[in-house]
Amino acid sequence: MVERAPDPGTGETMNASCIFCRIAAGEIPSPRVYEDEHLFVIRDINPAAPVHLLVIPREHVESVGALEERHAELAGRLLLAVRRVAEQEGIAGSGFRMVANTGREGGQTVPHLHLHVLGGRQLTGHGTA
Ligand code: AMP
Ligand code: ZN
Repeated sequence: MVERAPDPGTGETMNASCIFCRIAAGEIPSPRVYEDEHLFVIRDINPAAPVHLLVIPREHVESVGALEERHAELAGRLLLAVRRVAEQEGIAGSGFRMVANTGREGGQTVPHLHLHVLGGRQLTGHGTA
């Protein structure tokens, strides 16, 4: 994997072969449901529910399993973004699910941290199915 040098200002690294880093950089177009300087939210390309969003930090953090103390504020911002887009999409009242697949047995397929937000139908079980 090709890793770019950390940005001297933010310390962020971008992984040039990572699809979510490429979307973050605008190399792959993907309409934003919400974005700010820390994170962005897109619609899942293969939705498992009428509303299926991905809340993605701009920084390339591999998974929940790779979060460090320095990510404490970012982790909070990701959660608050979930609440914000759930309201925006009209599923805050009816209810929704937030999922963070983590690692191989967690079923993570894109190794860049993301929170799935699913809603708009009755969900069962515990996953994105
Ligand atoms: P996970 O399996 O938890 O790693 O989730 C990765 C998710 O990213 C899957 O639900 C994919 O459908 C979704 N995905 C992959 N590529 C894209 C893309 N280019 N745009 C939007 N969603 C994507
Ligand atoms: Zn990445």
